[in-house]
Amino acid sequence: MGRMATRRTFVILGADGDLAARLLLPGLGQLLMHDRRSRLTLMGVGRSALSDDEWRRRLRAAMRADEEDPLVASLEASAHYRQADATSRDDLQALFDDLPGPVAIYFALPPSVAHAACETLAGMDVPPGTVLALEKPFGTDLESAREFNALLARLPDGVRVVRVDHFLGKTTVLALTGLRFANHMFESVWHRDHIERVEVVFDESLALEGRAGYYDRAGALRDMIQSHLLQVLALIAMEPPESVGSEDMHRAMAEVLERTRVWGSDASEASRRARYTAGSVGSRVFPDYAAEDGVDPARETETLTEVTLQVNADRWHGVPFVLRSGKAIGRDREEISITLREPSALPRGFSGEVRRGLRIGMKPERIVLDVAVNRADDLLALRTVELASRSTEGRLGAYAEVLGGILDGDELLSVSGPMAEACWRIVTPILEAWAEDRVPLEEYPAGSRGPSSWPTTQHD
Ligand code: NDP
Repeated sequence: MGRMATRRTFVILGADGDLAARLLLPGLGQLLMHDRRSRLTLMGVGRSALSDDEWRRRLRAAMRADEEDPLVASLEASAHYRQADATSRDDLQALFDDLPGPVAIYFALPPSVAHAACETLAGMDVPPGTVLALEKPFGTDLESAREFNALLARLPDGVRVVRVDHFLGKTTVLALTGLRFANHMFESVWHRDHIERVEVVFDESLALEGRAGYYDRAGALRDMIQSHLLQVLALIAMEPPESVGSEDMHRAMAEVLERTRVWGSDASEASRRARYTAGSVGSRVFPDYAAEDGVDPARETETLTEVTLQVNADRWHGVPFVLRSGKAIGRDREEISITLREPSALPRGFSGEVRRGLRIGMKPERIVLDVAVNRADDLLALRTVELASRSTEGRLGAYAEVLGGILDGDELLSVSGPMAEACWRIVTPILEAWAEDRVPLEEYPAGSRGPSSWPTTQHD
């Protein structure tokens, strides 16, 4: 798996921010509790003036781990905070001078600051074995992603870059490889002859959660499709890799992403976009998206999108891959749905509509296989039964998995440079069609399933 020696020192740049508090520190707490990382030390770095004691207090609150646990107690006791500017050469040099041994540095910084910090690092003697973990978004378009990759290529030899996509840390997402390749039954039907359509859906009932400053500039296409859902598509559609090691996996995933295009010849016909209007999800009441704090309505940001893609590989000609994601949707749905074709030799005389397919729930984690059977009350009529099972349940949350990989120098749960560029290339024609207003911005009430005319909205 390309593992290197485990890093004992973990540095969070932007330790005072939202990502660190909500996702990284809880992930670290989980990793310590379940994966027994001994002798790990943690350094928080930020612009604000925090004392070590205040940082340790925050750490304790955010990690949500057992304070009595010796590993947790030892991490807390040895944790330090340093006030520094992540873009300053002097500050970064002082950090390397003080931290012996290879370190893992997580950039929990605003994207422009992370970029500036990498520019600084590219001109420094970064110790070999250092891992730099970069968050999404990786660039804002194809050009900036290319430029960022070129900048990272200037880092000294022996420095590893991990482009984090926490979806790859979701157990069910990586478990697609076992399901696909370790079962002859699925491996043999994973082809256009048997598969009619693939959908990857991430609908959430949550709305902005105070992150309008980021989301209003990103929107559903950049926030979810360009990054996370395209990684899921890659795992579904890739050719079998030589091994499940990071290099072989990244190569297979990059190859299939490079062959992925918008469906048909016109991006405006292969994409839809909408934003929510006032409504409620359970007890949560949402105003019009355009009236949310921090939103500039003139940006026309979409909170729901659906794009249809084609994979130009012999295996997939003619099979639409529909990727959809939305906020303030009435029902959470995180699911991969694979529709199988009708059997070619179904004897005449059967009646009844049936579903034929495989659904892989990312949350809840489950696998459902739809099977057509005869009905009891009318033996020549068909009905669907579901063969359902819980799938691999996550022992660790996605961020804990990702952090474990970073500390071990294992890049499997990350996005390679070519993958990041391919993902931007795929969505570029859609972004252009939207910028030219060739796709109307539709509306849906918060709490609904999306505009009623959309095909994916009709699904259960
Ligand atoms: P925040 O703005 O909440 O946090 C960024 C932190 O970086 C702040 O503490 C900020 O300090 C600090 N900072 C800014 N400039 C510097 C600098 N020059 N030197 C040192 N520290 C600095 O952002 P988020 O935590 O939300 O996001 C961080 C990254 O994670 C972004 O790339 C984002 O896209 C990504 N991400 C975030 C998610 C989330 O849920 N929050 C989810 C997935 C990805 P100050 O307060 O002083 O400005």
